[in-house]
Amino acid sequence: MSQTGINRERLLASFVELLHINATSRREGPIARHIEAILTELGASVRHDNAGEAIGGEVGNLIARLDGGLDAPALLLCAHLDTIEPTEALVLRREKGAFASDGTTILGADDRAGVAAILEVVHALTEQGVPYPPLELVFTVAEEVGVMGSMALDTTGLTAAMGFVPDSSGAVGTIITRAPAQQKLEVTIHGKAAHAGMAPEQGISAITVAARAIAGMRQGRIDEETTANIGVIHGGKATNIIADTVQIEGEARSRDPRKLEEQVAHMVACFEAAAEETGAQAEITVLDVYPAFNLADDAPAVLAARVAATSLGIQPLTAATGGGSDANFLNARGIPTVILSSGYAQPHCTDERQDEEELVRLAEWLYLIVRQAAHT
Ligand SMILES: [Zn+2]
Repeated sequence: MSQTGINRERLLASFVELLHINATSRREGPIARHIEAILTELGASVRHDNAGEAIGGEVGNLIARLDGGLDAPALLLCAHLDTIEPTEALVLRREKGAFASDGTTILGADDRAGVAAILEVVHALTEQGVPYPPLELVFTVAEEVGVMGSMALDTTGLTAAMGFVPDSSGAVGTIITRAPAQQKLEVTIHGKAAHAGMAPEQGISAITVAARAIAGMRQGRIDEETTANIGVIHGGKATNIIADTVQIEGEARSRDPRKLEEQVAHMVACFEAAAEETGAQAEITVLDVYPAFNLADDAPAVLAARVAATSLGIQPLTAATGGGSDANFLNARGIPTVILSSGYAQPHCTDERQDEEELVRLAEWLYLIVRQAAHT
């Protein structure tokens, strides 16, 4: 047992058990029941919100509360229940102090590492019988398919002054304080069908219109905090028909709302101009996917994570990410929240790995955040 009370063997066993529970996005029922049983046993009050119904999933977000016995502001710990695919019939390899799959499935450490670490912190605190601040635990569904669970999160009753989301690759000690907003574009180009051999002059090729729009568009890395991508294109029926319809999906992200607005306006303008020049029509929908967040280096959540890392002998770093996660919505709901690196590598790939030592360190980091937060 370590100085923090984290029980290494229990943590690793619990992690392995979680890895073997198949629970992909919207199919989180089995892992939710597993966690609910553990937390109930440990004295937490547990509920599900109705996000499951809202997004067509098996269960909603799992929300648990522990009183902790310390008169201090509540802390929120959050991890997601779902993994990407494939995970079915995981064959676990454990070698050189790390966990991996046999290469035919992903491992699922993203985010079973976060889930296991949070559960171990509750185990350790309960076992020690020490007072700690009220804990609000949020285990979200459908994070991997557009952060849908936390988008639909029912925050009724959540009072946390700050939040921590162990859900990022890289060695333990990185605190992610900034993440972009994302908007999605759905575009349908309406051209005009005609026989390609007999009467091509009567047609307007939606494919050519799309090509013209996209060729003139700024994409990829726009600047240090802004990116854009056209990721999907469908259209056309046969080589002898001038294509009358093309559907296109794209996205833009930025940590600066003004730059995001500018980039999306530019993308929309490219489609509109190409349609205008060719006599086609562009039907464009812009959707908000998630909002940005940007916490100062002296924000309480950042300070709490820094102090705890330093106590563990880890040099804390702050960083920005180019991706969206549960932290985007928790911040938007008024709970200043950081993401913590969790020691896994190659997430979303079949060579995903989780270092054992890093998992222990993650649990110790969270434990110290909880124990020390009342004093920072
Ligand atoms: Zn994740």
